[in-house]
Amino acid sequence: MSGLDTWRGPNRLDALRGPSKPVDHNARSIAALAANPACQRRAILDAAGIDKGSTIQHLGYPHQFGQSPFALARQEQFKAIVKAHGGAHILRLLRELLHLSVEEAGYHNVEDAADDNGRAVRHRHTRTVLRSAAEQPEHAATLFDDPLLKLNVAGYDVYLEPDVIAFQVGRQFHVVAIKTFAVVDGQADTPKVSAAAREAAVYVHALRELFSSLGLDPARVAHDVVLICPKDFMNFPTAALVDVRHPLEVLRRQLERLSRIDDILDELPPGLSLDLRMEGKTPTRPAAELAAAVSALEARYAPECLAVCEMAYFCRAEARACGSLEALGRTVRDDLGGLESIDTAIHLISGDPVCSPEQDAIATRLQYLRRLHDEAVA
Ligand code: SF4
Repeated sequence: MSGLDTWRGPNRLDALRGPSKPVDHNARSIAALAANPACQRRAILDAAGIDKGSTIQHLGYPHQFGQSPFALARQEQFKAIVKAHGGAHILRLLRELLHLSVEEAGYHNVEDAADDNGRAVRHRHTRTVLRSAAEQPEHAATLFDDPLLKLNVAGYDVYLEPDVIAFQVGRQFHVVAIKTFAVVDGQADTPKVSAAAREAAVYVHALRELFSSLGLDPARVAHDVVLICPKDFMNFPTAALVDVRHPLEVLRRQLERLSRIDDILDELPPGLSLDLRMEGKTPTRPAAELAAAVSALEARYAPECLAVCEMAYFCRAEARACGSLEALGRTVRDDLGGLESIDTAIHLISGDPVCSPEQDAIATRLQYLRRLHDEAVA
């Protein structure tokens, strides 16, 4: 192998990260990749398995990300209710939603794999069980609890644990996602549903990959996910089908992009390192030096980042400091398409000369809005 080859792919990402172990991905973190697919900074940090939580803290920003212990406890409690008595609630909901017949009811806990619940063993057992179910649908159980799926992210294998997999409704597998946000009068919070759909799309993708590797038709994994939530703030589960084709497509493109991460790495300054230089559990690298290294990775900040990425406070401060329109959100950026900065927008509002017909049109709209604002304030 040539020296150049060892500096490509995972080796190069390892060099970028330094001697620390790569952090594990999970469905949440992989789903977040699809939330801002244009951001190269996030793509590189995730591909290299950089600990974004430690990085943001060392840069002097709070690490306010992830679920609180209360939210996790609530999640576990609701999951236990949904899965109790051999998945009785799930079977009821599948009958309502997918017209599952009564005699198809069955339950199989994949976590019961032998005496050894190691991840590789559980994954092999999952493959065996799902293959047998797909090839012999007449003998298969309906539900597969705690399966372990695997996905390759930028050269690293990531294990994923869906809440449950429902099987064999019209010879199709459906991923079941269990969430704790309430469905009130048949309506749920749209951003929460979107986040759940992105996460479920990761499982659908991983399951389709598994089917392909077994020589089975990946189309047997449905793009409709069964989303189970509490009804009207009670603990009574209700369910809806959610079409995840769009997040699935974004995720597929993003994973493909990560597998071609060398193209992005080629653009980086030679010798760039994101190593925190840990001594025990303490990072020793000067924060300013680390900030400069992170800033060398091109970011695409939007206010939505605050909900999905640990680096959001750093990227927001950076976007504000350079007057980027990104800091005001995608809607504003798209509305002012063609302007490169907040400063330019302010110049146009003030009536400064424009330098293109596009700027002229935007200046007219901005000045009109300013007049409306001034009248309202007056
Ligand atoms: S917070 Fe920063 S790194 Fe994360 S997705 Fe947004 S722009 Fe990219």
